Amino acid sequence: MNVSDPAFPIRQAADRFAPYVPRLQAVFSAMDLAYVEVAGTYRFRCSGCEDNCCRTRFHHHTYLEFFYLHHGWEKLEKQRREILMSRADDVCRAMDALAPGRDTHRRMCPLNVDGLCELYEHRPMICRLHGIPHVLQRPDGRKTTGSGCDAFHRHYGDRSDAVLERTPHYGALAALEQEFRRTVGLADKLKMTVAEMIVRFTFLCITH
Ligand code: SF4
Repeated sequence: MNVSDPAFPIRQAADRFAPYVPRLQAVFSAMDLAYVEVAGTYRFRCSGCEDNCCRTRFHHHTYLEFFYLHHGWEKLEKQRREILMSRADDVCRAMDALAPGRDTHRRMCPLNVDGLCELYEHRPMICRLHGIPHVLQRPDGRKTTGSGCDAFHRHYGDRSDAVLERTPHYGALAALEQEFRRTVGLADKLKMTVAEMIVRFTFLCITH
């Protein structure tokens, strides 16, 4: 992806994001609660993991997640933002240098510093749901299931007696995203890693 594309129409939408903050927080709170409940049945704790999922190249697809991460970004001190922007830039360059199709390179998310997420409260949806067995009913009716992450498997094998039902959480985020897009007039599809999101923040003119 060319992250210097100035055509990205986000500035006006950013000005109209504020009313969506509490509503998105409610959606994320429900996710967090559901995750804790299922993880708690296994006593699964996500910490000190060498095979860190923050190295997974997750793509995010909603403007709400983009603007919410930015909402947290604005609260960081200037010096911190500069360091993280440089880390994000490095990750994007490393990814852009890869041959097409070779996207398995596992670079740490630029927001993971010494094992902790710098914008934990503002992290995207998949960062909240990853790691434990789950089920998802897709809009076309197909049901997909997923097992836990490698750390989960090491501790609990193929156990799946408690499963995180992702469907209502995906649905709640998708519905809010649709409303937001209609309100602000954004139609383009979005597919970005956290590193790409951070580099895009420069277009919101608040990185200095
Ligand atoms: S946003 Fe935070 S939780 Fe998500 S991958 Fe990056 S460091 Fe990890």
